[in-house]
Amino acid sequence: MNCNTCGTPLGDADLVCPSCSKATSEVAQPKPTARMVTSKLSEYYQIEFQKIQTSNEQYKGKWNWAAFLAGPIWAFTKGLKEIVVIYALAILFTFGISVLAYAVIFGLRGNYIYYTKLMKGRVLII
Ligand SMILES: [Zn+2]
Repeated sequence: MNCNTCGTPLGDADLVCPSCSKATSEVAQPKPTARMVTSKLSEYYQIEFQKIQTSNEQYKGKWNWAAFLAGPIWAFTKGLKEIVVIYALAILFTFGISVLAYAVIFGLRGNYIYYTKLMKGRVLII
């Protein structure tokens, strides 16, 4: 690889560019791993997210009781504003009828939704 600033070829072990002295950590940004992103989370989510990532997202997380029972509150505490909005709309426009359906979806996919939010910055359900 080459230095981003001056284009000088760099060795793998170079921490700073030998030509312009810029730190080479900016050159090679490693992709964030689940372990890095989730290091501040509880063990439950660390294990879940590790599984999701190592399965190449074939594994979508196990049933999440907190997401099922406390949907909007769970979503709010995880910073999942999109989910809070979906609940609010469901309550407003279907008079709460679809809330149970959403509760099941979030129980099933809560961990995966949370994972995609942290790892990709957007909420994905499938
Ligand atoms: Zn350089």
